[in-house]
Amino acid sequence: MTFLEFAQCKRGHYTPIRPMAASVPGNERWRIIEDEPEFFVCNECKRINELEVDGLKVFPTQFGLEPYNTGAPIRRFDISLPCDEELNCTPMRVIAILRADTTVDELEREKSSWRGRALSCPSGHAQDFPSGWE
Ligand SMILES: [Zn+2]
Ligand SMILES: [Zn+2]
Repeated sequence: MTFLEFAQCKRGHYTPIRPMAASVPGNERWRIIEDEPEFFVCNECKRINELEVDGLKVFPTQFGLEPYNTGAPIRRFDISLPCDEELNCTPMRVIAILRADTTVDELEREKSSWRGRALSCPSGHAQDFPSGWE
């Protein structure tokens, strides 16, 4: 049994984000993910939601999450989405949970199914994803 921390989307679905131990202060192994991305993609509805690290909930899973748990069937991908408002703006960072063996092409296809409303880049430009989405 592996304990993961899950984020909840606005519609109530849970998406795994990271191992529980990642939030333990002083845990050397997971120190690298103290600075988490601003957003995550919901596994169920593919909506891009804001990531609230303080609101994560712990649930047990059978296999865990790559790259933290070797051999897990799903993997965390940290993706950058360019700001739509200004060239050379700081990209938005998004966590997506996909099959561990997802290829680059599949990832691009997966991206085209994501939808986000009024996402704010690190410089505060609000935008929809994809651009002009209705
Ligand atoms: Zn959802
Ligand atoms: Zn921007």
